[in-house]
Amino acid sequence: MKIGFIGLGNMGAPMAKNLGEAGHDVTGFDTAGVTVEGVSPAATMEAAVEGQEVIVTMLPNGAIVRTVHEAIVAAADPETLVIDCSTIDVESARAVHDLAGEKGLMSLDAPVSGGTGGAAAGTLTFMVGGSDAAFAKGRPLFDIMGAKAVHCGPAGAGQAAKICNNMILGISMIGVCEAFHLADRLGLDRQAMFDVASTSSGSCWSLNTYCPAPGVGPESPADRDYRPGFAAELMLKDLDLSQTAAEKNGAATELGRHARDIYERFVGAGGRGKDFSAILERLGAG
Ligand code: NAD
Repeated sequence: MKIGFIGLGNMGAPMAKNLGEAGHDVTGFDTAGVTVEGVSPAATMEAAVEGQEVIVTMLPNGAIVRTVHEAIVAAADPETLVIDCSTIDVESARAVHDLAGEKGLMSLDAPVSGGTGGAAAGTLTFMVGGSDAAFAKGRPLFDIMGAKAVHCGPAGAGQAAKICNNMILGISMIGVCEAFHLADRLGLDRQAMFDVASTSSGSCWSLNTYCPAPGVGPESPADRDYRPGFAAELMLKDLDLSQTAAEKNGAATELGRHARDIYERFVGAGGRGKDFSAILERLGAG
Protein backbone atom coordinates (compact mmCIF):
# COMPACT_ATOMS: atom_id res chain seq x y z
CA MET A 1 0.00 0.00 0.00
CA LYS A 2 1.03 3.62 -0.46
CA ILE A 3 1.02 5.14 3.03
CA GLY A 4 1.61 8.71 4.25
CA PHE A 5 2.75 8.93 7.89
CA ILE A 6 2.50 12.30 9.71
CA GLY A 7 4.22 12.72 13.10
CA LEU A 8 7.48 10.76 13.39
CA GLY A 9 8.13 11.17 17.12
CA ASN A 10 8.88 8.57 19.79
CA MET A 11 5.88 6.49 18.74
CA GLY A 12 5.35 7.44 15.09
CA ALA A 13 8.94 6.77 13.96
CA PRO A 14 9.06 3.08 14.93
CA MET A 15 5.48 2.52 13.73
CA ALA A 16 6.31 4.00 10.29
CA LYS A 17 9.55 1.98 10.19
CA ASN A 18 7.64 -1.26 10.80
CA LEU A 19 5.21 -0.47 7.96
CA GLY A 20 8.17 0.17 5.63
CA GLU A 21 9.93 -3.03 6.71
CA ALA A 22 6.75 -4.99 5.98
CA GLY A 23 7.02 -3.89 2.34
CA HIS A 24 4.69 -0.90 2.24
CA ASP A 25 5.65 2.26 0.36
CA VAL A 26 5.76 4.78 3.24
CA THR A 27 6.29 8.53 2.93
CA GLY A 28 6.76 10.45 6.18
CA PHE A 29 6.43 14.06 7.31
CA ASP A 30 7.23 15.71 10.64
CA THR A 31 7.55 19.45 11.33
CA ALA A 32 10.76 18.68 13.26
CA GLY A 33 12.32 17.31 10.06
CA VAL A 34 12.73 13.80 11.49
CA THR A 35 13.79 11.09 9.05
CA VAL A 36 13.23 7.37 9.55
CA GLU A 37 15.04 4.42 7.97
CA GLY A 38 12.92 2.85 5.22
CA VAL A 39 10.54 5.85 5.08
CA SER A 40 10.78 8.38 2.20
CA PRO A 41 10.94 11.92 3.61
CA ALA A 42 8.42 14.47 2.27
CA ALA A 43 9.30 18.18 2.22
CA THR A 44 5.72 19.24 2.95
CA MET A 45 2.66 17.66 4.52
CA GLU A 46 0.81 17.86 1.18
CA ALA A 47 3.62 15.87 -0.47
CA ALA A 48 3.14 13.14 2.16
CA VAL A 49 -0.63 13.07 1.62
CA GLU A 50 -1.22 13.32 -2.13
CA GLY A 51 -1.70 10.02 -3.97
CA GLN A 52 -1.68 7.84 -0.82
CA GLU A 53 -4.14 5.02 -0.08
CA VAL A 54 -3.80 5.41 3.70
CA ILE A 55 -2.70 8.35 5.88
CA VAL A 56 -1.63 7.63 9.49
CA THR A 57 -1.15 10.43 12.03
CA MET A 58 0.65 10.15 15.41
CA LEU A 59 0.58 13.64 16.95
CA PRO A 60 0.76 15.27 20.41
CA ASN A 61 -2.78 16.52 21.02
CA GLY A 62 -6.32 17.18 19.75
CA ALA A 63 -5.71 20.78 18.58
CA ILE A 64 -2.77 19.69 16.39
CA VAL A 65 -4.72 16.68 15.08
CA ARG A 66 -7.64 18.92 14.05
CA THR A 67 -5.34 21.34 12.16
CA VAL A 68 -3.34 18.58 10.47
CA HIS A 69 -6.48 16.66 9.45
CA GLU A 70 -7.94 19.78 7.80
CA ALA A 71 -4.84 19.87 5.61
CA ILE A 72 -5.00 16.10 5.00
CA VAL A 73 -8.64 16.18 3.93
CA ALA A 74 -7.91 19.08 1.54
CA ALA A 75 -5.03 17.22 -0.16
CA ALA A 76 -6.07 13.53 0.03
CA ASP A 77 -7.44 11.38 -2.81
CA PRO A 78 -11.16 10.50 -2.44
CA GLU A 79 -10.50 6.78 -1.72
CA THR A 80 -8.01 7.47 1.08
CA LEU A 81 -8.41 5.95 4.57
CA VAL A 82 -7.31 8.37 7.32
CA ILE A 83 -6.20 6.79 10.62
CA ASP A 84 -5.39 8.89 13.69
CA CYS A 85 -3.38 6.95 16.30
CA SER A 86 -2.75 9.92 18.66
CA THR A 87 -4.32 9.99 22.13
CA ILE A 88 -6.81 12.89 22.03
CA ASP A 89 -10.20 13.98 23.38
CA VAL A 90 -13.30 12.22 22.07
CA GLU A 91 -14.77 15.50 20.68
CA SER A 92 -11.71 16.17 18.53
CA ALA A 93 -11.73 12.55 17.34
CA ARG A 94 -15.38 12.84 16.29
CA ALA A 95 -14.70 16.24 14.66
CA VAL A 96 -11.95 14.82 12.44
CA HIS A 97 -14.19 11.87 11.50
CA ASP A 98 -16.86 14.41 10.43
CA LEU A 99 -14.27 16.35 8.46
CA ALA A 100 -13.21 13.22 6.57
CA GLY A 101 -16.82 12.16 6.06
CA GLU A 102 -17.70 15.50 4.42
CA LYS A 103 -15.10 14.71 1.73
CA GLY A 104 -16.26 11.08 1.46
CA LEU A 105 -13.05 9.74 3.02
CA MET A 106 -13.04 6.73 5.38
CA SER A 107 -11.56 7.39 8.81
CA LEU A 108 -10.61 5.63 12.07
CA ASP A 109 -9.58 6.81 15.51
CA ALA A 110 -7.04 4.20 16.62
CA PRO A 111 -5.10 5.16 19.76
CA VAL A 112 -2.61 2.65 21.09
CA SER A 113 -1.40 1.04 24.27
CA GLY A 114 2.05 -0.47 24.68
CA GLY A 115 4.39 2.52 24.70
CA THR A 116 7.60 3.04 22.75
CA GLY A 117 8.70 -0.56 23.40
CA GLY A 118 5.50 -1.89 21.87
CA ALA A 119 5.82 0.52 18.94
CA ALA A 120 9.37 -0.70 18.21
CA ALA A 121 8.48 -4.38 18.63
CA GLY A 122 5.22 -4.10 16.63
CA THR A 123 3.20 -5.36 19.60
CA LEU A 124 0.89 -2.37 20.24
CA THR A 125 -2.78 -2.79 21.10
CA PHE A 126 -5.03 -0.66 18.87
CA MET A 127 -8.43 0.55 20.15
CA VAL A 128 -10.41 1.50 17.10
CA GLY A 129 -13.48 3.62 16.39
CA GLY A 130 -15.13 3.91 12.96
CA SER A 131 -17.13 1.95 10.39
CA ASP A 132 -16.75 -1.80 9.73
CA ALA A 133 -15.47 -1.06 6.21
CA ALA A 134 -12.82 1.36 7.46
CA PHE A 135 -11.72 -1.12 10.15
CA ALA A 136 -11.44 -3.92 7.58
CA LYS A 137 -9.23 -1.73 5.38
CA GLY A 138 -7.01 -0.62 8.29
CA ARG A 139 -6.69 -4.04 9.93
CA PRO A 140 -3.67 -5.33 7.91
CA LEU A 141 -1.71 -2.26 9.03
CA PHE A 142 -2.72 -2.73 12.68
CA ASP A 143 -1.51 -6.34 12.37
CA ILE A 144 1.95 -5.07 11.35
CA MET A 145 2.24 -2.30 13.95
CA GLY A 146 0.56 -4.22 16.74
CA ALA A 147 -0.35 -7.56 18.29
CA LYS A 148 -4.04 -6.79 18.79
CA ALA A 149 -6.70 -4.49 17.32
CA VAL A 150 -10.12 -4.18 18.96
CA HIS A 151 -12.95 -2.57 16.99
CA CYS A 152 -14.63 -0.70 19.88
CA GLY A 153 -17.53 0.89 18.03
CA PRO A 154 -18.32 3.97 15.93
CA ALA A 155 -16.36 7.24 15.62
CA GLY A 156 -14.65 8.19 18.90
CA ALA A 157 -15.05 4.76 20.54
CA GLY A 158 -11.32 4.05 20.30
CA GLN A 159 -10.45 7.24 22.19
CA ALA A 160 -13.17 6.49 24.76
CA ALA A 161 -11.62 3.05 25.39
CA LYS A 162 -8.14 4.55 25.62
CA ILE A 163 -8.97 7.17 28.26
CA CYS A 164 -10.96 4.63 30.34
CA ASN A 165 -8.01 2.19 30.20
CA ASN A 166 -5.49 4.85 31.19
CA MET A 167 -7.68 6.07 34.04
CA ILE A 168 -7.49 2.51 35.44
CA LEU A 169 -3.72 2.56 34.90
CA GLY A 170 -3.17 5.90 36.69
CA ILE A 171 -5.31 4.87 39.65
CA SER A 172 -3.79 1.39 39.91
CA MET A 173 -0.20 2.69 39.76
CA ILE A 174 -0.89 5.07 42.64
CA GLY A 175 -2.52 2.19 44.57
CA VAL A 176 0.49 -0.09 44.04
CA CYS A 177 2.90 2.70 45.09
CA GLU A 178 0.88 3.39 48.23
CA ALA A 179 0.96 -0.34 49.07
CA PHE A 180 4.79 -0.42 48.75
CA HIS A 181 4.98 2.75 50.86
CA LEU A 182 2.84 1.21 53.60
CA ALA A 183 4.86 -2.03 53.37
CA ASP A 184 8.05 0.00 53.94
CA ARG A 185 6.58 1.72 56.96
CA LEU A 186 5.49 -1.65 58.38
CA GLY A 187 8.97 -3.10 57.89
CA LEU A 188 7.71 -5.59 55.29
CA ASP A 189 10.31 -6.62 52.71
CA ARG A 190 9.42 -5.27 49.23
CA GLN A 191 10.20 -8.61 47.59
CA ALA A 192 7.85 -10.38 50.00
CA MET A 193 5.14 -7.79 49.28
CA PHE A 194 5.61 -8.38 45.56
CA ASP A 195 5.68 -12.18 45.85
CA VAL A 196 2.38 -12.18 47.75
CA ALA A 197 0.42 -9.41 46.01
CA SER A 198 1.49 -10.31 42.46
CA THR A 199 -0.04 -13.78 42.90
CA SER A 200 -3.00 -12.67 45.04
CA SER A 201 -6.03 -10.47 44.55
CA GLY A 202 -3.79 -7.36 44.50
CA SER A 203 -2.23 -8.46 41.21
CA CYS A 204 -2.50 -6.01 38.33
CA TRP A 205 -0.40 -4.78 35.40
CA SER A 206 1.09 -1.89 37.42
CA LEU A 207 2.45 -4.40 39.95
CA ASN A 208 3.11 -7.58 37.99
CA THR A 209 4.51 -6.17 34.72
CA TYR A 210 5.62 -2.62 35.52
CA CYS A 211 6.58 -2.83 39.18
CA PRO A 212 7.43 0.69 40.52
CA ALA A 213 9.89 -0.66 43.13
CA PRO A 214 13.51 -0.95 41.85
CA GLY A 215 14.98 -4.45 41.90
CA VAL A 216 11.62 -6.13 42.39
CA GLY A 217 9.66 -7.97 39.71
CA PRO A 218 10.48 -7.98 35.99
CA GLU A 219 12.69 -5.20 34.60
CA SER A 220 10.85 -1.87 34.47
CA PRO A 221 11.65 1.89 34.37
CA ALA A 222 12.20 1.73 38.17
CA ASP A 223 15.36 -0.27 37.42
CA ARG A 224 16.81 2.53 35.27
CA ASP A 225 16.22 5.46 37.62
CA TYR A 226 12.65 5.91 36.33
CA ARG A 227 13.65 6.90 32.79
CA PRO A 228 10.41 6.58 30.78
CA GLY A 229 8.74 4.33 29.66
CA PHE A 230 5.61 6.34 29.95
CA ALA A 231 6.37 9.86 31.18
CA ALA A 232 4.42 11.28 34.12
CA GLU A 233 3.29 14.28 32.04
CA LEU A 234 1.74 11.93 29.46
CA MET A 235 -0.16 10.17 32.23
CA LEU A 236 -1.31 13.61 33.42
CA LYS A 237 -2.46 14.43 29.88
CA ASP A 238 -4.50 11.21 29.71
CA LEU A 239 -6.03 11.75 33.18
CA ASP A 240 -6.94 15.30 32.10
CA LEU A 241 -8.71 13.79 29.08
CA SER A 242 -10.63 11.25 31.18
CA GLN A 243 -11.57 13.85 33.81
CA THR A 244 -12.74 16.39 31.22
CA ALA A 245 -14.80 13.66 29.54
CA ALA A 246 -16.22 12.54 32.91
CA GLU A 247 -17.27 16.08 33.80
CA LYS A 248 -18.85 16.70 30.37
CA ASN A 249 -20.76 13.42 30.48
CA GLY A 250 -21.76 13.36 34.15
CA ALA A 251 -19.67 10.30 35.11
CA ALA A 252 -18.70 9.86 38.76
CA THR A 253 -14.91 9.33 38.68
CA GLU A 254 -13.75 10.44 42.11
CA LEU A 255 -10.58 8.32 42.11
CA GLY A 256 -9.84 9.44 38.54
CA ARG A 257 -9.98 13.06 39.70
CA HIS A 258 -7.79 12.29 42.68
CA ALA A 259 -5.25 10.50 40.46
CA ARG A 260 -5.24 13.50 38.09
CA ASP A 261 -4.52 15.88 41.00
CA ILE A 262 -1.74 13.63 42.35
CA TYR A 263 -0.03 13.49 38.92
CA GLU A 264 -0.44 17.26 38.49
CA ARG A 265 1.38 17.84 41.79
CA PHE A 266 4.02 15.26 40.90
CA VAL A 267 4.74 16.78 37.47
CA GLY A 268 4.88 20.29 39.00
CA ALA A 269 7.28 19.16 41.73
CA GLY A 270 10.08 17.70 39.61
CA GLY A 271 8.35 14.64 38.16
CA ARG A 272 8.31 15.95 34.55
CA GLY A 273 10.42 13.68 32.36
CA LYS A 274 10.31 10.83 34.87
CA ASP A 275 8.36 7.64 34.36
CA PHE A 276 4.85 7.72 35.83
CA SER A 277 5.80 4.91 38.24
CA ALA A 278 8.27 7.30 39.99
CA ILE A 279 5.28 8.45 42.04
CA LEU A 280 6.60 5.85 44.53
CA GLU A 281 9.54 8.16 45.33
CA ARG A 282 7.19 11.06 45.99
CA LEU A 283 5.59 9.05 48.77
CA GLY A 284 8.98 9.04 50.49
CA ALA A 285 9.26 5.28 50.12
CA GLY A 286 12.45 5.22 48.03
P1 NAD B 1 6.32 12.92 20.36
O1 NAD B 1 6.25 14.30 20.89
O2 NAD B 1 7.59 12.14 20.49
O3 NAD B 1 5.96 12.95 18.78
C1 NAD B 1 5.04 13.82 18.19
C2 NAD B 1 5.66 14.25 16.85
O4 NAD B 1 4.69 15.04 16.14
C3 NAD B 1 6.90 15.12 17.01
O5 NAD B 1 7.99 14.54 16.31
C4 NAD B 1 6.49 16.48 16.41
O6 NAD B 1 7.56 17.16 15.76
C5 NAD B 1 5.41 16.06 15.43
N1 NAD B 1 4.48 17.12 15.08
C6 NAD B 1 3.91 18.05 15.90
N2 NAD B 1 3.11 18.86 15.20
C7 NAD B 1 3.16 18.43 13.90
C8 NAD B 1 2.53 18.86 12.71
N3 NAD B 1 1.70 19.90 12.68
N4 NAD B 1 2.82 18.20 11.57
C9 NAD B 1 3.69 17.14 11.58
N5 NAD B 1 4.32 16.69 12.68
C10 NAD B 1 4.04 17.33 13.83
O7 NAD B 1 5.10 12.13 21.00
P2 NAD B 1 4.88 10.54 21.08
O8 NAD B 1 5.44 10.02 22.34
O9 NAD B 1 5.29 9.94 19.77
O10 NAD B 1 3.27 10.48 21.22
C11 NAD B 1 2.42 10.71 20.12
C12 NAD B 1 1.01 10.40 20.56
O11 NAD B 1 0.93 9.04 21.02
C13 NAD B 1 0.50 11.28 21.70
O12 NAD B 1 -0.84 11.60 21.45
C14 NAD B 1 0.66 10.38 22.93
O13 NAD B 1 -0.26 10.71 23.96
C15 NAD B 1 0.37 9.02 22.32
N6 NAD B 1 0.97 7.89 23.05
C16 NAD B 1 2.26 7.96 23.48
C17 NAD B 1 2.81 6.87 24.16
C18 NAD B 1 4.24 6.89 24.66
O14 NAD B 1 4.60 6.01 25.45
N7 NAD B 1 5.07 7.83 24.20
C19 NAD B 1 2.03 5.71 24.39
C20 NAD B 1 0.72 5.66 23.89
C21 NAD B 1 0.20 6.77 23.22
